[in-house]
Amino acid sequence: MPELPEVEALAAYLRERAVGRAVERFEVASFSALKTYDPQPSALAGLAVTSAGRHGKFLDVGVGDDLHLVVHLARAGWLHYRESFKSPAPLKPGSGPIAVRVRLDDGSGFDLTEAGTQKSLAAYVVRDPSEVPGVARLGPDALAVSLEEFATRIRGRKGQIKGVLVDQEVLAGIGNAYSDEILHAARLSPFALTGKLSDEQVATLYEAMREIETDAVARSVGQKAAELKGEKRAGMRVHARTGLPCPVCGDTVREVSFADKSLQYCATCQTGGKPLADRRLSKLVR
Ligand SMILES: [Zn+2]
Repeated sequence: MPELPEVEALAAYLRERAVGRAVERFEVASFSALKTYDPQPSALAGLAVTSAGRHGKFLDVGVGDDLHLVVHLARAGWLHYRESFKSPAPLKPGSGPIAVRVRLDDGSGFDLTEAGTQKSLAAYVVRDPSEVPGVARLGPDALAVSLEEFATRIRGRKGQIKGVLVDQEVLAGIGNAYSDEILHAARLSPFALTGKLSDEQVATLYEAMREIETDAVARSVGQKAAELKGEKRAGMRVHARTGLPCPVCGDTVREVSFADKSLQYCATCQTGGKPLADRRLSKLVR
């Protein structure tokens, strides 16, 4: 799933490539992906792309004076920039991974695609980004929040730190992958309870968050969309590295699985050497 650094890089790429160009056509191939009907998406045609930015993990493309195309790429969604399109024919609805196509007046443009069967990519055409419910609910951005506010918000949401870090209402921008990396850098168990963190642990976590996210943004911005996924994977120390050695201590990276996702961690670095209970594994053993 694209997180803060990848969405930031996509926005930077659009600022460089698409801002200043006019929208020639906005095509919707997956009607379930478009969540709004007023203003109509055809209202974007003929207007210039004026800005590209993000709100947490939402991409925000400004069009004309007062319209925004806001996109949540969800788990398997992506933005593919095309220098040209093979065919001028409009997309056929309901076939293939392309949900939305935006053609620009220089022949280039971009596709919003979603792999797999679980369709959760969401596109909104709105007059104000805050009309998007997920944007309106966002907490402060992970790269903009102060230590004081971070501490208040983290402690204000009782639970395991892994779940709290990825809660977009607490902090915007952090997802499953970078939260694994942040907790590893902070040497904290993903199951540590937010209410029990010391001031020092909160400060260390804050620094780790800034470092991991800033570093990932620096590596991602300037990369083409097609290269971002590889760049993201290459920078990971524990996430999606189950069974491989931890680059810090050499211990084997472990995993805890849930119904539809998993987390990775290093027991030596994060949990005093003790493996965390994995419900799926213990079920198998029983
Ligand atoms: Zn380690």
